[in-house]
Amino acid sequence: MINIFIVVVILVVFFYITQKYVLKQEQPSQYQYRKKGSLLNMSEGAFFNALVEAVGQHGVVLAKVSMTSVIIPHKTKNKKQWFIANNQIAKSYFDYVVCDSRTLEPRVIIELDNGRELDKGKIERQKLIIQVCKSAGLPLIGANIKLSYQVGRLRRLLAAHIDLIEPDKEVRFCKRCGAPMVLKIATQGEFKGRRFFTCSRQPHCTYTENYNVVFEENEHPEQSDY
Ligand SMILES: [Zn+2]
Repeated sequence: MINIFIVVVILVVFFYITQKYVLKQEQPSQYQYRKKGSLLNMSEGAFFNALVEAVGQHGVVLAKVSMTSVIIPHKTKNKKQWFIANNQIAKSYFDYVVCDSRTLEPRVIIELDNGRELDKGKIERQKLIIQVCKSAGLPLIGANIKLSYQVGRLRRLLAAHIDLIEPDKEVRFCKRCGAPMVLKIATQGEFKGRRFFTCSRQPHCTYTENYNVVFEENEHPEQSDY
């Protein structure tokens, strides 16, 4: 009899606690919030401006993009595995994402190195970003804060991933046979959606040229892809 009484008491207490502390918390109106101020700190903002300048009309720059907006785990037979994979990225974000200006499809991820020392959290974050970008086939640029003042260099780094030249202003001639070149858009493969030049005498001449070739000449960039 006493046992039943104890069980009932425990149930009542449990019910009371659930009502009071768990269920009530789900009402959003209960809490007050305040603005945090600028989305980016000074150095992040300076880099953002440089990035916008470098990309121009050729892409859209977004900052602090939630990882789950950009990537999603592969479907797994085991649902639990999927949730674990999703949890891994749920609270993280990408510093900057440069998207195609027409489709808003992410083209390249940029991670800003603020020059501060590596601590455990930072190392974990870097590992995660490198792993997820590699896994999802997203190009990743690790950028030094110095690039905020080197728009030209930033543009050359980006040129490997997005088309940065005005198409109608670009006239080229084949380096092999001298014939005019034709602008095309890759319809498949790794460079799908990217522009490239091909010789107008195809199939007699098979010369093709990277659209962004003007950015690939001169000086070695200090930065490199991961
Ligand atoms: Zn040719």
